[in-house]
Amino acid sequence: MALPPKAIQGTVPLTFVAPHQTAPYATDTPAHDAYGRRIDYLRVSLTDRCNLRCVYCVPTPDLPHAPHAALLTNDELLLVVRAAAAAGFRKLRLTGGEPTLRHELVELIRALKAIPGIEQIAMTTNALRLPKLAGPLKAAGLDRVNISIDSLDPVKFRQISRGGSLAEVWAGVHAAAAAGLHPLKLNAVIVRGMNDAEVLQLAALTLEHPWEFRFIEVMPLRGVAGLAEEGVVSSAELLARLAAHFGTLEPCEQKRADPARCYRLPGAQGKLGFISAVTDPFCATCNRMRLTADGRLHLCLLRDHEVDLRAAIRNGASHAEVEQLIRHAVHLKPWGHGLPEGVRPQLRGMAELGG
Ligand code: SAM
Repeated sequence: MALPPKAIQGTVPLTFVAPHQTAPYATDTPAHDAYGRRIDYLRVSLTDRCNLRCVYCVPTPDLPHAPHAALLTNDELLLVVRAAAAAGFRKLRLTGGEPTLRHELVELIRALKAIPGIEQIAMTTNALRLPKLAGPLKAAGLDRVNISIDSLDPVKFRQISRGGSLAEVWAGVHAAAAAGLHPLKLNAVIVRGMNDAEVLQLAALTLEHPWEFRFIEVMPLRGVAGLAEEGVVSSAELLARLAAHFGTLEPCEQKRADPARCYRLPGAQGKLGFISAVTDPFCATCNRMRLTADGRLHLCLLRDHEVDLRAAIRNGASHAEVEQLIRHAVHLKPWGHGLPEGVRPQLRGMAELGG
């Protein structure tokens, strides 16, 4: 069965690719995509549920969730990650929704870390459950965390997250640091008129702490495109504002596949990262794919192409067949997003994809 060309080129989701089909994918390990990019980083959404409702992420507070039966079970998820590791994936990031809401998370991380080939497991979280979980997660094999913190003002934070407590986030940050989840990275999505007036204070955290603070350009995922189009603040603008206040920022050594461009404030202990997916994309060094909680490989964050692994698994696909599907999906990965051409993702919101 040949793939419909439109599914490869356009934004039509690939709902199912039969495991037995002969495909034009490479069988090398690690897998490279059709453009020669090595793809070895899988971002795994563990749930589409979240205990916050950040305005740039969740369009309405009452967003419906996938039914429990739609989500990959732990056994299905482990099958996917074993197959991905066989295809050369080496790094996992657990995300969501809020990944710490996943049942049996500690046991799941222990099992994921035991998979041959998986070298590093990170997690992106709002930190609310870290006071309880940071120690057990570290002991189970979690290497590090990125924590979302969009404001240092408790009232503003509550507005942005639609009800969250900044004090609880700070408790989670300190629990992560105490548990040794290093290097600790903090993330803020900057939206003009919402929290852009706070960038100096946010950046100043790195003067005293050995953390990396990352400024993320707001992206037009489903449901928040309007807010994102009007609210995006370019990394270039932020850099100029920070330099005007703190003096020249020193560039840090850049890891090739790291989407964040890295700088240091004069005299700072920590670093700053700028993720400019909208105004200065880094598609040429993209090394990642995403697995949704309902078992689809999502090939590019800002496009709608997907390959349905859950259907294959529930139709009895073997480890080897799932690996073949993953290699095929890697081959189909689009070159980059189409924001400048007006392509906007329609299929899923950020809470389903995990950033
Ligand atoms: N609940 C976790 C958290 O709060 O970090 C993980 C899931 S959240 C969807 C993952 C990351 O995506 C967070 O850093 C969040 O700030 C970011 N994010 C959400 N919506 C975004 C958007 N429209 N544009 C850019 N980043 C976004």
